[in-house]
Amino acid sequence: MAELTLDAVTKVFQEGDGSEVVAVDDVNIDIGDGEFLVLVGPSGCGKSTTLRMIAGLETISSGEIRLGGSRLNEKQPAERDIAMVFQSYALYPHMTVRQNMSFGLEESTDLDDDTIRETVTDAATTMGIENLLDRKPGELSGGQQQRVALGRAIVRDPEVFLMDEPLSNLDAKLRAGMRTEIQRLQEDLDVTTVYVTHDQTEAMTMGDRIAVLDDGELMQVGSPLELYHRPANQFVAGFIGDPSMNFFDVSHEGGTLVGDGFEYPLSSDVASDLGETTDCVLGVRPEDVSLVESATDAHDFRTTVEVVEPMGNENNVYLSFGDEPSDEEPDQRFVATVGGLRRVERDSTVVARIPEDSVHL
Ligand code: ADP
Repeated sequence: MAELTLDAVTKVFQEGDGSEVVAVDDVNIDIGDGEFLVLVGPSGCGKSTTLRMIAGLETISSGEIRLGGSRLNEKQPAERDIAMVFQSYALYPHMTVRQNMSFGLEESTDLDDDTIRETVTDAATTMGIENLLDRKPGELSGGQQQRVALGRAIVRDPEVFLMDEPLSNLDAKLRAGMRTEIQRLQEDLDVTTVYVTHDQTEAMTMGDRIAVLDDGELMQVGSPLELYHRPANQFVAGFIGDPSMNFFDVSHEGGTLVGDGFEYPLSSDVASDLGETTDCVLGVRPEDVSLVESATDAHDFRTTVEVVEPMGNENNVYLSFGDEPSDEEPDQRFVATVGGLRRVERDSTVVARIPEDSVHL
């Protein structure tokens, strides 16, 4: 069994001037056997450092990492039964694809040449690169190099795959294809996988579960739907979803939220949940804001269309409260994602509905 456990894992880097950077701060995650966990967060939040500690490429300042219950902290990378795929692919340019894929096996196992040959051919077939085995990396496209890097991870038949932004050097079309392929591969091989990306769309489409990091701290771990519908805090709410959630700074005054240019009445149970809280943030996802014919509900607002961004079968409509177009930047702009059949003109007045059951406070 290959459950991977991060138990209060912390990494502190010492800078040259004696100061300290806490890159990873007391992170706890249990990754199940065969699970696909995506580690996501903005640049510099500690994703790579976390992955490198699991791989053994970085020491652990405090806490413990366990694989199948046994402590990894002191084990050398080669003893960990973990294969890592890097963003840069890290292929040896002077070696053929076959040599690149065989290298790790020759180094770390006592398998005979025939067995290694067969294992590499099998992995190459799985990745659809069996006809490229005699080429050098320089003679391959980016997508093919990525397949070789994945093939090299497969031949080792590891307990855990670690992937550090493996698709970021590919163009958008290839990336979408490889996403599906990596998922399929991971499912077929049933190997516990930790996948790092800064791209929330990649995280949402690939992960069984997603761990969101910010500034070295774990914000939330959950399924894509949990993160989307029940974000633990404003950071997760804003990070997951594209376009991101609209936020309004409001004050709570006797059952009504008062914002800049609008008032939002609350039903009594929501108001009583807020209790004595005065300052809060109202969040609503763009896809939950709809445009309606006329204002019939207390949660309908007359708004002015600032910008319309066509997205194929949908439009992102940027709105401001009030029914006067203004020459100045509006104080409070928010976005509604609506079906493309409806025509919305810039500077026109429309009624936006922000339903109370879709609001996050
Ligand atoms: P991410 O992968 O999420 O972009 P990293 O794990 O690379 O983030 O970095 C996390 C933090 O640790 C950043 O503030 C980064 O500057 C710092 N850091 C990473 N590696 C080192 C290092 N070798 N020495 C000092 N600080 C580092």
